[in-house]
Amino acid sequence: MENICSQCGVTIADAQILYTAQGAAICINCNLQGEIKQSERRAAANVHHSAWSAFGVGFVARSILLLIILLAVLLVVFIRHRAG
Ligand SMILES: [Zn+2]
Repeated sequence: MENICSQCGVTIADAQILYTAQGAAICINCNLQGEIKQSERRAAANVHHSAWSAFGVGFVARSILLLIILLAVLLVVFIRHRAG
């Protein structure tokens, strides 16, 4: 029986045949390329996620900073009001 890669059509030796998640025969090169593409997708997703996390942290940090400035201003106004 001849095993043919479902991706590139190359003939695969019995000992080297691999299968996709869908059960299609695949050669080692196509399997490797598939894994590289998968990890590239994962890396891209992680970068995307990191960008949003950084944005979220930045937003929260800026909000806290604005709150501290507001409280400091209120404190100064309060102290001047009591003193004056
Ligand atoms: Zn192949």
